[in-house]
Amino acid sequence: MKKKISVVVPCYNEEEALKYFYKEINDVSKKMKELNFEFIFVNDGSKDKTLDEIKQLAIDDKRVRYVSFSRNFGKEAAMLAGLEYSRGDFVTIMDADLQDPPELLEEMYRLIVEEGYDCVSTRRVTRKGEPPIRSFFARMFYQIINGISDIEMVDGARDYRLMTRQVVDAIISVKEYNRYSKGIFSFVGFNTKWLEYENVQRIAGETKWSFWKLFVYALEGITAFSTTPLILSAIVGFVFCIVSFIMILVIVLKTLIFGDPVSGWPSLVCIIFLLSGIQLFSVGVLGQYLSKTYLETKRRPIYIVKETEEK
Ligand code: UDP
Ligand code: MG
Repeated sequence: MKKKISVVVPCYNEEEALKYFYKEINDVSKKMKELNFEFIFVNDGSKDKTLDEIKQLAIDDKRVRYVSFSRNFGKEAAMLAGLEYSRGDFVTIMDADLQDPPELLEEMYRLIVEEGYDCVSTRRVTRKGEPPIRSFFARMFYQIINGISDIEMVDGARDYRLMTRQVVDAIISVKEYNRYSKGIFSFVGFNTKWLEYENVQRIAGETKWSFWKLFVYALEGITAFSTTPLILSAIVGFVFCIVSFIMILVIVLKTLIFGDPVSGWPSLVCIIFLLSGIQLFSVGVLGQYLSKTYLETKRRPIYIVKETEEK
């Protein structure tokens, strides 16, 4: 019997890109005859005609399935929903904007079947066509996170990947609410092969990531996969205790020896500012972890489905 492959596609306001995407992936599916395809479009609360487009595809092509959310829950939620709905022996996640070239799929499949990898991931080696400032912060983020976290995150890694059912089940079994897929993928482990490719411009529509959204996402990645900031703030606090202890000694001795009366008001203010700054910062760091714990303990669903092709 033919094995099945599921193509999971998170879609948020992709009405313009979808038809191009479907055409490409359909061509790929014709080339890969040894597999049965299923396409799972996850409509992440799009505000345009994306859902109508998907429904039309589902009417024309019985291999198309879809999940539609009650509102926008974010790409992380959309990917999880796609993985949970998928039934394939192999599952791939692809963006709808053709920035993840579908034609790589054949090579990815070959690597899994012939070379025995559990998972083939992709990374882009260039960041061509991206604002330089964004690339700079992205590089910095990867340096920081790899420095302070146990798991390895690869610079330029995409969410585009082909996995065996075993890997998919492992990813689904990670039930956390604050999902940071790049971390979860590397957390579950398995034999992973990295494929590299040049950055591709999106085919139509525009990116959903503002700089601010990316920044918050990066912070989420750090809090989700490292507790080093907590340790750092404790260390800074400790260092300052020692420094202030030495300073007290110096001041007491100075006063005893030279009888130095009240002076140094400006330096006092500076010290107060510095220390209260550090204190607030540490409370902020603590608050980050606390708020994540708070959200996690609420056990809210990660996404809410409004409709699927099965009704
Ligand atoms: N996406 C989504 N929900 C969102 C934002 C994005 O499902 O809230 C999807 C989007 O439709 C696309 C993929 O995630 O298929 C990647 O988004 P985008 O192309 O905007 O990100 P970029 O490629 O610029 O990183
Ligand atoms: Mg894109």
